[in-house]
Amino acid sequence: MKLELKNSLSVKLLRVVLLSALIVGVVLSCAQIVFDAYKTRQAVASDAQRILDMFRDPSTQAVYSLDREMGMQVIEGLFQDDAVRMASIGHPHEAMLAQKTRELQHSNSRWLTDLILGKERTFTTQLVGRGPYSEYYGDLSITLDTATYGKGFIVSSVIIFISGVLRAMAMALVLYLVYHWLLTKPLSRIIEHLTEINPDRPSAHKIPQLKGHEKNELGVWINTANQLLQSIERNTHLRYEAENSLLRMAQYDFLTGLPNRQQLQQQLDKILVDAGKLQRRVAVLCVGLDDFKGINEQFSYQTGDQLLLALADRLRAHSGRLGALARLGGDQFALVQADIEQPYEAAELAQSVLDDLEAAFALDHQEIRLRATIGITLFPEDGDSTEKLLQKAEQTMTLAKTRSRNRYQFYIASVDTEMRRRRELEKDLRDALIRDQFFLVYQPQISYRDHRVVGVEALIRWQHPEHGLVPPDLFIPLAEQNGTIIAIGEWVLDQACKQLREWHDQGFDLRMAVNLSTVQLHHAELPRVVNNLLQMYRLPPRSLELEVTETGLMEDISTAAQHLLSLRRSGALIAIDDFGTGYSSLSYLKSLPLDKIKIDKSFVQDLLDDDDDATIVRAIIQLGKSLGMQVIAEGVETAEQEAYIISEGCHEGQGYHYSKPLPARELGAYLKQAQRSNAAIL
Ligand code: C2E
Ligand code: CA
Ligand code: CA
Repeated sequence: MKLELKNSLSVKLLRVVLLSALIVGVVLSCAQIVFDAYKTRQAVASDAQRILDMFRDPSTQAVYSLDREMGMQVIEGLFQDDAVRMASIGHPHEAMLAQKTRELQHSNSRWLTDLILGKERTFTTQLVGRGPYSEYYGDLSITLDTATYGKGFIVSSVIIFISGVLRAMAMALVLYLVYHWLLTKPLSRIIEHLTEINPDRPSAHKIPQLKGHEKNELGVWINTANQLLQSIERNTHLRYEAENSLLRMAQYDFLTGLPNRQQLQQQLDKILVDAGKLQRRVAVLCVGLDDFKGINEQFSYQTGDQLLLALADRLRAHSGRLGALARLGGDQFALVQADIEQPYEAAELAQSVLDDLEAAFALDHQEIRLRATIGITLFPEDGDSTEKLLQKAEQTMTLAKTRSRNRYQFYIASVDTEMRRRRELEKDLRDALIRDQFFLVYQPQISYRDHRVVGVEALIRWQHPEHGLVPPDLFIPLAEQNGTIIAIGEWVLDQACKQLREWHDQGFDLRMAVNLSTVQLHHAELPRVVNNLLQMYRLPPRSLELEVTETGLMEDISTAAQHLLSLRRSGALIAIDDFGTGYSSLSYLKSLPLDKIKIDKSFVQDLLDDDDDATIVRAIIQLGKSLGMQVIAEGVETAEQEAYIISEGCHEGQGYHYSKPLPARELGAYLKQAQRSNAAIL
């Protein structure tokens, strides 16, 4: 805070002092001038008296002897004095013996001095003979012009006035300087220091003592202020600590130090808002211990507390995957998984929490095992608010406990069954390869140049002993998650290449398309595996086509480009699958080594009813052609769809219109049939 100079105390003081000093100065000067006027009047009178005294004797002589000449001489003598305007000698009842007059002097200040001193003043003295008779002969009379006195008076008045005012001003200035030096300047320094004080830590910056002011009021003021600041800081600190511990008590669980229900609600509120904006899922897991009461009774409450502490630590180990972790009270905990895509992610977390509890807790030289049941709700499916999600998760947990324990349960029954099925499938998937439950089917690809079968796409099937045929859309993501996709993928490649060798041996000049998962694509061994297979089965270059998806490539374009290049070097062709459903940006199409674009079946299926889809299909065909790539349409089901894509210039087609994916033997028959009908046409 900077003070403006015109508002400063010293300037105010200067103004007040100056004004009052001026007033006092003027009043005193005026009094002195009045006194001076009085003294000037007196001086006129005393001068006149002196002149009269001086000329009394010769005048008496002249009057006595009636000597006119002498009278005139006396008069002339009197006129030597400039102030004398008129002089006369003579008896008042007779004609004057001698008399002389001259003009009034001219002066600029007359108008003023005449008012004070009068224009002229006449003085008379009697001319009397010597004793003993003292006879009266006449009068000597002079009239003095006041102008000369007036001039002197004016000059001295001006000097008196000016010096009076100057003195007053000098006094004011000195006072100002003294005041500024002793008060305003130290005050401004104190203010400067005050502004530097941090309100949060008031005593960190002490106001320093001012030199020379240690013992006076300013020094005392500074000391008192410093003490005050110190005690303010002490008090704020105490209050802050008290508030903090109150806050902790209100928001954290006393035993485990985890957030309590209240804090969890706040955290979850925020998480839900974010998830709502990003359209992501959130899972709320309510973990309840199975039979904690029994443990408390069997051991002790202290052991129970220690167990809860140890459990909290185990739960904390998952915090990397958690948006929030809290103790709801008693033997219940809540875990919030923010930002998930699929419910199975929550199932996996729940399972890993349960797996974690498998290891016994070692307390007081004894091993104690805990089991828990977990209720799971999902946002947005099961509720859009913190209360609903928490309440339903707790309900689900309690309900699950009444059936069987040591497991997790989703709030929605269908999700729950699906999760259970997923889990089972995932387990079964690990053994499916050894148990020989996979087989491949092949779907023909038709060239529109001559309507011949030029290739087949290998598609995997899983024959599950209980569930029958499991579709690849269901188990491939599972295999990608648990890593089995690498082994499965290699098996598919091997099977497909072996089959292709067989068909080549039978005289069918075919190309084999094999789907690659993103996980496979990023596996360093893949180019070597492909290379080995091509050599082992003596397959000509460009007879194996690898289908990759946009989403897999987009994650890291530069590494994807490297991987694709090394695959190409092994002799494989690269096709981009499901084209149009992902990012479909021109720049990445150009920067990747691709041979073929596969238009996603969703566009092909609707192109006759949906103008947009027809436009997209046309655009993709144009794009592929302009980049010098082959274009194949998948999911061709009708002759009309075929006609459209042919008219747009698509190179190849694949779909139920030609054949469903068939087991190898059946596809062999299909190929022979196609060969025969082609020959018939020819
Ligand atoms: P995809 O690569 O897009 O395969 C095409 C899917 O469309 C196949 O389903 C096929 O049966 C189906 N289809 C073919 N023609 C038509 C048609 O005219 N109409 C309709 N509605 N559908 C048609 P499938 O075999 O269930 O495969 C599903 C997905 O599973 C595949 O999609 C592929 O992404 C994946 N997949 C299949 N086999 C493998 C494999 O060996 N390895 C990997 N990594 N993924 C595979
Ligand atoms: Ca495919
Ligand atoms: Ca596809």
